[in-house]
Amino acid sequence: MVKPKTEEEIELLRENAILVSKTLAEVGKAVAPGVTTNELNRVAETFIRDHGAIPSFLGFEGFPAAICASVNDVVVHGFPSDYVLKEGDIVSADIGTLWKGYNGDSAYTFPVGEVDAETRKLLDVTKASLYKGIEAAVVGNRIGDIGYAVQSYVESFGFTVVRELEGHGLGKEMHEEPGVPNFGRKGKGTKLVDGMVLCIEPMINAGSRGVYLARNGWAVRTSDHRNSAHYELTVVVRNGKAEQLSTFDFIEKDGMIKF
Ligand code: MG
Ligand code: MG
Repeated sequence: MVKPKTEEEIELLRENAILVSKTLAEVGKAVAPGVTTNELNRVAETFIRDHGAIPSFLGFEGFPAAICASVNDVVVHGFPSDYVLKEGDIVSADIGTLWKGYNGDSAYTFPVGEVDAETRKLLDVTKASLYKGIEAAVVGNRIGDIGYAVQSYVESFGFTVVRELEGHGLGKEMHEEPGVPNFGRKGKGTKLVDGMVLCIEPMINAGSRGVYLARNGWAVRTSDHRNSAHYELTVVVRNGKAEQLSTFDFIEKDGMIKF
């Protein structure tokens, strides 16, 4: 049985979620052809520290940076580097914060300039599948209902779900129970209860679902080297409708850069 969060804990998780959401928007503003992923990392780390929080990924199990910057065929856990983004690339920024003893964790895949139509479709379908998963994160459902919602949507477009990685609970720890796979069967798995805080994060491939671990022991790449997209939001399981703690509104709403 996974212990649900108290409303006080949820408020602290919300503060983290908003900070991560705003950090993603700052990173998004910096994404452009000619920019290195090290620069995106610098933007994120500066913004998080300027708000008094800690970039929680830095040093986590030896991870060397504040963000994961995963370009094109890198699914997740890419190291920021001196790689220069070019027109047509996609780059996923996955960002974590630690603030008042609780964690924030969200991710967004940004197109670099104009991307081809199939890549645009991959981004749109992956993000929409995240919202399908969120719709299923309600009291009375089970973890498998979330995975089923993501998987059935994504596969209807001919894209594939990475099986080796999954979402998770969030709280004082960056990764808590339950695991939240992006595939599954209706009515199976841990029961969802009010106050459970989950990170739902579909990792979706344009081609086959196979992945492998790069030699640095961190970056996960697609076996066929086609593109992969990743979006992540933090939600609270509620009766009737899940409550989103993090948001892409700072990235996508009027006045911000639109992706
Ligand atoms: Mg994440
Ligand atoms: Mg996560």
